[in-house]
Amino acid sequence: MAGTGKFFVGGNWKCNGTKDSISTLVSDLNSANIESDVDVVVSPPYLYIDQVKSSLTDRIEISAQNCWVGKGGAYTGEISAEQLKDIGCKWVILGHSERRHVIGENDEFIGKKAAYALNQDIKVIACIGELLEERESGKTFDVCFKQLKAFADSVPSWENIVIAYEPVWAIGTGKVATPEQAQEVHSAVRDWLKKNVSAEVASSIRIIYGGSVNGSNCDELAKQEDIDGFLVGGASLKGPEFAKIVNSVT
Ligand code: PGA
Repeated sequence: MAGTGKFFVGGNWKCNGTKDSISTLVSDLNSANIESDVDVVVSPPYLYIDQVKSSLTDRIEISAQNCWVGKGGAYTGEISAEQLKDIGCKWVILGHSERRHVIGENDEFIGKKAAYALNQDIKVIACIGELLEERESGKTFDVCFKQLKAFADSVPSWENIVIAYEPVWAIGTGKVATPEQAQEVHSAVRDWLKKNVSAEVASSIRIIYGGSVNGSNCDELAKQEDIDGFLVGGASLKGPEFAKIVNSVT
């Protein structure tokens, strides 16, 4: 833990759940013992945000998984940052690899989304990460820095941003990055921020890791100096396991 903030753990539920399964997950989270020094955020599908908001303990904040790039209006199928704010959603995940590589969002578009959301007082979990072929051809840092630069070129400030390093080859594959692999990139990201943004941002920002984090590998990862938390997909759908990950820093 190098960032000066609290350890941060987000649960990205992706396109999973029904009213019933989400109600069970929420009651598991409500009864979980969460250590006081951790920021915890869960990210249900848009449709269920209201259900979760009205039943989940205030100890856990809510994030959306995406939002529109600007003011709402004639954009069929989109949800605006203003609407997220209206329903009490405090965070949004932007630049997730599934949006970059499955939906086709590019760096510049994602940077603009981040700027717009921050200007509406929505905090941003800004995701970056390389594909397997990019790692194998030695391009991990280039790819991550290019994605970071697109955020840096757009955002008004880094104060309300958490960076999530999520190597694409580790997401949903069960193939977690080793603590050393994750630490190497997190430390490089912090150096990049120091050189290209400011020493203050570099030392205060939280850089969290995502990609096949579970109840068995979280403790080793959490020991790394520059890992300030996690973004958890599959394992966040199981309340007791997610609680274990949330408490991994203590
Ligand atoms: P995973 O997903 O934990 O299922 O690998 C992480 C993510 O996509 O944020």
